[in-house]
Amino acid sequence: MKVVVDQDLCISCGVCISLCEEVFSWNDDDKAEAIDEEVPAELEEVVQEAIDSCPTEAIKEV
Ligand code: SF4
Repeated sequence: MKVVVDQDLCISCGVCISLCEEVFSWNDDDKAEAIDEEVPAELEEVVQEAIDSCPTEAIKEV
């Protein structure tokens, strides 16, 4: 599983980072980004929760 955050859609709500700081962090534009696009298997469930919870559907599985 790989994810990216669409920078045009992210509204910096912080939900994804609250759920999974191992995968998502703030970048210099104060938007969320995927630290490492490849998600470790043990984190896929929580990353899926982040995808489902993002209010603007900015997190894309690629
Ligand atoms: S949950 Fe979505 S809108 Fe909120 S910070 Fe993460 S990517 Fe951005």
